[in-house]
Amino acid sequence: MAVMTATAIILALKAAHDVARQANDSEDPATLKAAMRDVSHRLSRAMSEAASLHENIIDLRRLADSAARQEIWRFTSDEEKRRYVKMESPGGAFVYVAREQAASPNPSPEYCAGCFEVGTRAMLKPCGVGGIARCPACGAAPRTGR
Ligand SMILES: [Zn+2]
Repeated sequence: MAVMTATAIILALKAAHDVARQANDSEDPATLKAAMRDVSHRLSRAMSEAASLHENIIDLRRLADSAARQEIWRFTSDEEKRRYVKMESPGGAFVYVAREQAASPNPSPEYCAGCFEVGTRAMLKPCGVGGIARCPACGAAPRTGR
């Protein structure tokens, strides 16, 4: 089942509301009964779609949390830390990179040196201007030249 957007759910609720409002002017029991059935059907569908949308949001939050955990990761042993080496980036700032990336001309990703030295691996995000990158954990903005 395709998941409705929030806007589609709101439109479905508005349609149900409009049906109820129009029926309110009627005195005919058959018209009222048909309108109630229509409103009930529309509300039931909107509730089911809202539940699907809610599940989608939960899945997306899970994905975002997992991505954030990859971005900022706490070392649990010195052995893990030894898998990385400190090097000078093209912009002059010191960064840490995975040992096997050290010989590469563009080692990636680069990790915040300040955070690394206190036990956290935090992936630097290039800002796209001036060769500055930003650390998602401490907010440092080293000039990495990327
Ligand atoms: Zn940092």
